Amino acid sequence: MKYVSTRGNSEPAEFKEILLEGLAPDGGLYVPETYPKFTDAELDALRGLPAAPDAAQAGKNYHEVALTVLRTFITDIPEGDLKTLIARTYTKEVFGTQEITPLKQLEPGLSLLQLSNGPTLAFKDVPLQLLGNLMEYVLAEKGRELNVLGATSGDTGSAAAYALKGKKNLRLFMLSPHGRMSRFQQLQMYTLSEPNIFNIVVNGTFDDCQTIVKEANADADFKKKYKLGAVNSINWGRIAAQIVYYFYSYSRLTKNNSERVAYAVPSGNFGNALSAHIAREMGLNIEIIVCTNENDVLDQFFSSGIYHIRKGSEVKVTSSPSMDIASASNFERFVFDYVGRDSEKVRALWQELNAKREFDIGNSEPGTAFRMTSGSATDKDVLETIREAHKKYGYVIDPHTAVAMKVGLEKREKGIPLVVVETAQPAKFADTIREALGFEAPIPKSYESLANLPEHTTRMENETDLVKKFIAEHVS
Ligand SMILES: *Cc1c(COP(=O)(O)O)cnc(C)c1O
Repeated sequence: MKYVSTRGNSEPAEFKEILLEGLAPDGGLYVPETYPKFTDAELDALRGLPAAPDAAQAGKNYHEVALTVLRTFITDIPEGDLKTLIARTYTKEVFGTQEITPLKQLEPGLSLLQLSNGPTLAFKDVPLQLLGNLMEYVLAEKGRELNVLGATSGDTGSAAAYALKGKKNLRLFMLSPHGRMSRFQQLQMYTLSEPNIFNIVVNGTFDDCQTIVKEANADADFKKKYKLGAVNSINWGRIAAQIVYYFYSYSRLTKNNSERVAYAVPSGNFGNALSAHIAREMGLNIEIIVCTNENDVLDQFFSSGIYHIRKGSEVKVTSSPSMDIASASNFERFVFDYVGRDSEKVRALWQELNAKREFDIGNSEPGTAFRMTSGSATDKDVLETIREAHKKYGYVIDPHTAVAMKVGLEKREKGIPLVVVETAQPAKFADTIREALGFEAPIPKSYESLANLPEHTTRMENETDLVKKFIAEHVS
């Protein structure tokens, strides 16, 4: 499998070559040259796997589905090695169950796809845990090292830290704004004691942290000398890993491929929903409901054909912060497919976007043309949905999942089972849960002891040069 850039001006490359890169050299995003197609018989084979007579069997099933899907995208790692990497990543110890991404039925025709049982209690663990192992494998093979520099306002930082901790030839320098993350998020990240994880706490805002990352990367000599890299949401390895749970859940929910299932996906940078889109291109009979909070860039696009990106100052602070975005970094991959993989068109659209902050694909029937349903939810909707779900199902959902449940129930088609994608655990969003329900969300056992652990951080003034100096001192 070769990967090409959405902008069409980069050399096609193999999986291992693009894994450690961010954007393609021409500024586009890497996508598979073609999407592998699964026949009905191949999908039936996934479904035919025994339905968990015991837990160990079920865990193997996720591994088998993962291998079946990932080997079509990762053709330059021997299958035996890939199998080992998958088995090492998706364990009951790390993800809580052998099923890794279990389905929980709330009522007939309505289920949750639980993606948030990993170490940081959010769905990004599913792709990032695999990415950490893939990167370690590729770096060892190439005899290279990589120093990942990132900025976080909370969630991505901890998911990256738990994915890279203890990995050989990898260091993580993660900038976070002082005093602006929840206590829970701070404990998660700052108590990690692995020597390859560096928490740099900046006296500034998240935007300041991002600026430092940009400036350090803009210094080409520094970037090269200190082998800077990233693990951000456009990384193709992450998208590939996310496709797996659509195959896994679809094959568990259906008896044959004529049965359709709708997925309501809480969306921000459009990585998760894009993975669903690709899973559908590969043969799954699924519908996709793109669910946004009040930062509804994507809902606006899918209902009008107009992609209008916001200014940082226009981004609203909502109760589902992981979806508070000004633009959706993976969206270009969808547009590439939509315009018939015409990279000239993509270049023209993004030129227009850079000049005018928007483009209009102008379709009179956007919903049908894009094959996407969409909707958005307010913070008030989120509180109501959390309350209703608790009353009806005796189950506490987090604010991101609540966005999807609200929009999914509203937009679902009669007779088609709905899967609401659960992307985080409520314990991470204590304030919203307390406001909605009047009690605290239970904290998972594994987290109770964190409060007693020492924290490992370096406090720093908001200056790029200080961060660069720190990196130089800690990269041998
Ligand atoms: C990142 C994240 C999302 C948004 O996912 P995208 O792939 O960026 O659309 C939704 N919910 C949670 C909890 C997240 O961490």
